[in-house]
Amino acid sequence: MKTTKGHISIILAVLAAVVTVVSLSARSSHGQASRAKTTSRIKPAVPERAAATNASKSAAFAAAAAQNVQLRNQLSWNFGGKQQRGWYLHDLLIGDTLDTKDDATTSDFAEAVAKWQKRSGLSADGVLDQDAFMRMVSQWQSNRLKDRTPADPGQFVTGSPAHFYDPGRAEEMRQVERNTYEAYQKMIAAAHADLKLGPRDKYLKIISSYRSPAYQDELRRKSPNSGSAGLAVNSPHFTGRALDIYVGGDPVDTKDSNRAIQVNTPAYRWLVRNADRFGFRPYFYEPWHWEYVK
Ligand SMILES: [Zn+2]
Repeated sequence: MKTTKGHISIILAVLAAVVTVVSLSARSSHGQASRAKTTSRIKPAVPERAAATNASKSAAFAAAAAQNVQLRNQLSWNFGGKQQRGWYLHDLLIGDTLDTKDDATTSDFAEAVAKWQKRSGLSADGVLDQDAFMRMVSQWQSNRLKDRTPADPGQFVTGSPAHFYDPGRAEEMRQVERNTYEAYQKMIAAAHADLKLGPRDKYLKIISSYRSPAYQDELRRKSPNSGSAGLAVNSPHFTGRALDIYVGGDPVDTKDSNRAIQVNTPAYRWLVRNADRFGFRPYFYEPWHWEYVK
């Protein structure tokens, strides 16, 4: 027993010595990296290569950032049968997807794009071009409500007029799926506390909830140019789990100028950062449209 113990303590001592040497050498090589530029006295091979790699990496991301600056306003893409321009309206959702708060014009943002591209199996060049952006759009779309079976009347509750943008909205127009309405109330209680909204504030009130297929047809007849991105034939509003929520501007107008106002309101920004906690997911194209996916 004693000999075994002795052996073990020798082995431990040797291990400790090895660990110390390794960590010291690691520390000194970190030290070299920062000193490499000013002195050639210390073995330079590895740190200089690392510095060169970092330099070419940051040059590549600076170039990617320059392209992103252009694409952010000018990328031409198609959605719902309509030509779209740029992705600046989606800055916030993009940042949320990339898990970065960096401005879309920076090298750090390009680096975050590259990391996301790598995770998504795309070539990781840091440029949010058409391929990359369309992949992101399909990622967002796949997070939405999957089951669009129209709700049974028994699943509905009538929302309080106080929760509606138009408190005079008729009772049959204030139907919401039960669990969705419960989650909505929890969510706006949290939002009111964070955003210090007053009782008269219109922000985050429900513009529209359940819509029957017949009513949806009528809306489509009234706005024939809304396109499939706007008033869908198979609308998630049939489920009673989709809510149009007031986030500023003209409540439900997809004009770029209107959405540019909406995506910058504290209410919308709060939803992007917090709605998921309450089970709500966005429809990227309409800042006001949120779906309860639990
Ligand atoms: Zn909607």
